[in-house]
Amino acid sequence: MEILIDSDRIQSRVAELARLIEKDYEDRPLTIIGVMTGSLMLLADLARSIRIPSRVGVIQAGSYRGKSTDAGALLINDMFIPDVSGRDVIILDDILDTGHTLSALCDLIAQRGPASIRTAVLLRKIGRQIVPFEPDYVGFEIPNRFVVGYGLDFDDDFRHLPYIGILSDNLDD
Ligand code: 5GP
Ligand code: MG
Repeated sequence: MEILIDSDRIQSRVAELARLIEKDYEDRPLTIIGVMTGSLMLLADLARSIRIPSRVGVIQAGSYRGKSTDAGALLINDMFIPDVSGRDVIILDDILDTGHTLSALCDLIAQRGPASIRTAVLLRKIGRQIVPFEPDYVGFEIPNRFVVGYGLDFDDDFRHLPYIGILSDNLDD
């Protein structure tokens, strides 16, 4: 598999994002909500790197893909997210593609009365966005290829890889 972003680059960028977040949220009641399952590795690394008091929670979201690399309908499970009322929230996802997932999650969490909502993604695909949406923290901008690793899957495989790899090279849709 072709490696797009190796483990060292991921780790140093995650540390940079942690420094930015610490500066922005000093003395504020931060809750980081990871979008499962893709943000699993990012959530673990980033949450451990941020040196201000914070809470960690998860929300589940997915477009059923199975063996396809095209997204289907969005499913959200918000049954286990922590109480965010009056707190500053960062929603953390693996990748911004069309923007549907993160914009839907922001709308949903906004209904729970947080003090503020920002979003962070490890990856942002160039030229794919349908929903106008600006993430506040972005790790890397990447070309329109289907990527796996560091939490991202294909049919639930490859999430464990410590790097981001390109699975297939012929997805120029
Ligand atoms: P969006 O709603 O922005 O179109 O898509 C976001 C979700 O689609 C991500 O959370 C991720 O689960 C999935 N996704 C989008 N692009 C890729 C990709 O290149 N590889 C993998 N593994 N998942 C992707
Ligand atoms: Mg996802």
